Amino acid sequence: MMYADLHLHTNYSDGTFTPQELVARAFDAGLQTLSLTDHDTMEGCQEMLDACAKVGLTFITGCEFTVEFEDQELHLLGYGMRLENPELQSTLSYYQSVRRERIIRMTERLAGLGIRILPEKVVEIVQCNSPGRPHLARALIAGGHCTSIDDAFANYLKKGKPAWVAKPKLNAEKAIDLIHRTGGVAVLAHPGITRKDELIAGLVSVGMDGLECFYIRHSTPMTEHYLVLADKHRLLVTGGSDCHGMNKGHPSVGKIKLEQPFVESLQRAIANRQSSISTAL
Ligand code: AMP
Ligand code: FE
Ligand code: FE
Ligand code: ZN
Repeated sequence: MMYADLHLHTNYSDGTFTPQELVARAFDAGLQTLSLTDHDTMEGCQEMLDACAKVGLTFITGCEFTVEFEDQELHLLGYGMRLENPELQSTLSYYQSVRRERIIRMTERLAGLGIRILPEKVVEIVQCNSPGRPHLARALIAGGHCTSIDDAFANYLKKGKPAWVAKPKLNAEKAIDLIHRTGGVAVLAHPGITRKDELIAGLVSVGMDGLECFYIRHSTPMTEHYLVLADKHRLLVTGGSDCHGMNKGHPSVGKIKLEQPFVESLQRAIANRQSSISTAL
């Protein structure tokens, strides 16, 4: 049997592994197909593709978009988009600049609480263009202000906590349209963690293609529930470990093994989309 892990992060967003390190770990875990789904960036995809090719693994381009739908924040996974598309690149660059600005504003909030995280320190830790709260959590730990990433989120960074700052988000409908026009398919990430089932029918009506039924923090009944929903709405089924490297001490790559028939359905859907955009040109 061949297996895939289609939800992975590198140090191009808030993961700690380079694409090469991640591929080496995935290879050792016995996976055959990978996607890279960094937050709001596809910068690591070419390196990941090259690293996969070297060891004979299949790679599917990907990205995890932070979007909003009916005033709720959701994570949308895009798979199969063409890397070189200028509109996709400029949209991602814009949301990366929003992320960088947000980190600065969060350090200002922390300063107001008497916690000095020097901008230089953040810059040192945030070497990627698409930083997130986990980077700030690492800076808080390095400065001795928090003992762990969970501690940093619980006390400062979670929504409603003193250093939290809202982030402008891409509209889900626009994101789905952009994913489609650049040759990809759109999948709702970790629905059992987001717990906004009431939005799924609406997302399907604006073109969402799939549900991430298999996810590291989904219980077995949750997975079953989303498999039933996927079947009801005729959606693709995906799965992944959401590995962020060593963020939580033990890498999760390969802890979710998506079975090959699901991978092939996804690949077919991407191929269909790619051929429909080619003929539209
Ligand atoms: P951001 O993209 O800045 O909104 O940060 C969200 C990211 O932070 C998520 O993708 C997770 O990787 C991470 N995250 C969210 N909540 C927690 C938490 N309680 N503990 C650790 N990491 C978290
Ligand atoms: Fe993350
Ligand atoms: Fe996510
Ligand atoms: Zn993720």
